[in-house]
Amino acid sequence: AELTEACLTAIDAADALGAFVHKTPEKAMEQAKSADARGEGGALNGIPLGIKDLFCVRGVDSQAASRILEGFRPEYESTVTTKLWASGAVMLGKLNMDEFAMGSSNESSVYGDAVNPWKVDDRKLTPGGSSGGSATAVAADLCLGATGTDTGGSIRQPAAFTGITGLKPTYGRCSRFGIVAFASSLDQAGPMTKDVRDAAILLREMAGHDPLDSTSVDIAVPDFEAALTGDIKGKTIGLPKEYRVDGMPEEIDRLWSEGRQMLVDAGAKVVDVSLPHTKYALPTYYVIAPAEASSNLARYDGVRFGRRAVPDQGDGVTEMYEKTRAEGFGDEVKRRIMVGTYVLSAGFYDAYYNRARKVRTLIKRDFDEVFAQGVDAILTPTTPSAAFGLGEMAHADPVQMYLNDVFTVTVNLAGLPGISVPTGQGATGLPLGLQLIGRPFEEGDLLNVAYALE
Ligand code: GLN
Repeated sequence: AELTEACLTAIDAADALGAFVHKTPEKAMEQAKSADARGEGGALNGIPLGIKDLFCVRGVDSQAASRILEGFRPEYESTVTTKLWASGAVMLGKLNMDEFAMGSSNESSVYGDAVNPWKVDDRKLTPGGSSGGSATAVAADLCLGATGTDTGGSIRQPAAFTGITGLKPTYGRCSRFGIVAFASSLDQAGPMTKDVRDAAILLREMAGHDPLDSTSVDIAVPDFEAALTGDIKGKTIGLPKEYRVDGMPEEIDRLWSEGRQMLVDAGAKVVDVSLPHTKYALPTYYVIAPAEASSNLARYDGVRFGRRAVPDQGDGVTEMYEKTRAEGFGDEVKRRIMVGTYVLSAGFYDAYYNRARKVRTLIKRDFDEVFAQGVDAILTPTTPSAAFGLGEMAHADPVQMYLNDVFTVTVNLAGLPGISVPTGQGATGLPLGLQLIGRPFEEGDLLNVAYALE
């Protein structure tokens, strides 16, 4: 209860950071007191966490940072949060994010910006996105850990921008039940924490097969913390040459070399590898993700969930749908729905959507081949730059924003686990992260390599 009170006080004092968008202090104190009364329980007994607004929590506003879900309080609970409460965790509130998890800067949120606790002079910086509120909350010590979701980098990029650890598990490791769907074949929930050990502990409590999500995999959830031996002697780490992109800032290149050296010093063997289809990853992602989003978001029509626009005299049901969607969705969400509908339309389906699915298979095979050569993990930068200023990119060409995801989307397309570890600082003192990509369902091994980098 004392720990929870301290977090609640810190949260109230940090309103300017825009991290928590729905606070749940009563629920938190109730859960904290039961944790105290139990004395001991699950691994998370009494641990205060923040929950990304994409997760449905029974009776608590769950809006996916969208106007269209205003007033939506689910009757049911996501499987991931159900598991967290069963482990004794305490819920401090819901965390800011990009609308429907579409974005890389948290600037598409209906609640307004989340602000990176790191600053250069007086410039306000983005914490990244879409899990920007989660990253801010953990980095600013408002909670001990947070849930995030990652469709194309939304856990790893904000983790890198704020100097924390973020893990996207293998597709199928965590249940997606009760998490508002963006792109169902790419979405995964994962932990955002202060360090690798906390990520290992939190992942174990979030993961596991769930009959309510047919894509969750029935495979044992090991004790990931026990895998953290720090011993990576004899491990082979691959450095993919295609990730050395044009215009990569010198500080990112230097960080990558330093990371390589740290792994060599810890006894790993580092080899150059090739993932030849990497250059197609961004366009492939930005066909598949909007296609799935356009289909998933069709359910928001003003009838079943959230907010309905006030109809004009004489309006029929079609006008009601149109007004609700026009008022309820923000610009980026509308852009994705339009792109998605276009690539799925009868005349273009084969040229865009089907083509993207084929390229996705080639991207996945690149990774299969590298792992078949005996590589245990792949090391890359997490992002092509340090955190950028709020407002600097939001009004530019949307493609500029999409370029942020160049190192992260491949991992979702291939369904692999990926982790971002804070490993250095850029020229202006801002945190930078390196990404490690592992074999499917080998999060324990991946976390152990990350532990050596920390
Ligand atoms: N930035 C990417 C996008 O906008 C990824 C978002 C995510 O992982 N949810 O789609």
